[in-house]
This record gives sequence, C-alpha cells and structure tokens, in this order.
Amino acid sequence: MLVSHILGAKGRNVITIAPEKTLADAVRALHEHRIGALVVRTPQGKVAGILSERDIVNALSADGAAALNRSVKDYMTADVATCGEGDAVEEIMETMTNGRFRHVPVIKDGALVGIVSIGDVVKSRLEETVGEAKALKDYIGAA
Ligand code: AMP
Repeated sequence: MLVSHILGAKGRNVITIAPEKTLADAVRALHEHRIGALVVRTPQGKVAGILSERDIVNALSADGAAALNRSVKDYMTADVATCGEGDAVEEIMETMTNGRFRHVPVIKDGALVGIVSIGDVVKSRLEETVGEAKALKDYIGAA
C-alpha cells in the first residue's frame, strides 16, 4: 500500500499556519479542524516546520500562559520528516515509530500535497489485513 492510496481516500487538503501566527491562533485552528498538528508554511509556500498538540503542551509547561501570545515558530519543530506519494505505508510507520511522532507531511516537487497521520496509517493497515484475511478465506473455501 502506498501513501498515494491514503491520500486518494482521505483527500489532499492540509491545514497550515504561518510561522508568525501566535500559539493561541494555532490552538484555535487545531480545535476548529479537530486535528492534532499543523504544518507551518511561509507565505511563499515553503514548509518551515510542524506544530503538534505535544509542542503546545511543552510550551505551556515551559512558559505558562504567556506562550499563547508567542509565535508558532518559537515552538514548532523545524526539522520536518516528510514523505513522497510513492512511499510505502510500512516505511511511514517505521519513520513515525523511530521519530516518535504521529504526522508526516507529503511533498511532491517541493510542494505540500497532503499529510498522513498515524490514524490514517492504522486505518490503511487494518483494511489491508482484513482484505488479506478475506482473500485467504475465499482461497481455502474454493479449494
Ligand atoms: P506528534 O506525535 O505528531 O504530535 O508530534 C510529537 C513531536 O514530534 C512534536 O514535537 C512535533 O513537532 C514533532 N513532529 C511531528 N511530526 C513531525 C515530523 N513529520 N517531523 C519531525 N517532527 C515531527
């Protein structure tokens, strides 16, 4: 199963935020869209980082409520692990497990074209496993 299959099913819309926006803006966006991470993108379209719920918890723990008025760029992770549409879902699982994160933006020709979350990966693996089990049952039944 490839990343392109996941994007085909869930769509390619990615909720992004500018680096200069405040952490309070990010909290509102996460709540409004019911998501766990925002890709931080410059007005020129360049991926500058990623900000997840975890970063907001860390920010509040370190700086208290004052963190909410600071910039997203002060708390985001700038070194973002990304993937391509042709990458295998298994590879992304490994990237997430080794990096201990749950979101991987998808890049094509330098542009952001989607995002894969751990929930998407689990869903796709489950569908694959159910499909394989059915194929095996059908095969045994037909024999
Ligand atoms: P998450 O598990 O996705 O909520 O993120 C946990 C931590 O990893 C946070 O500090 C995120 O900023 C960071 N993070 C999330 N996704 C990525 C990614 N694709 N590449 C690098 N860091 C990430």
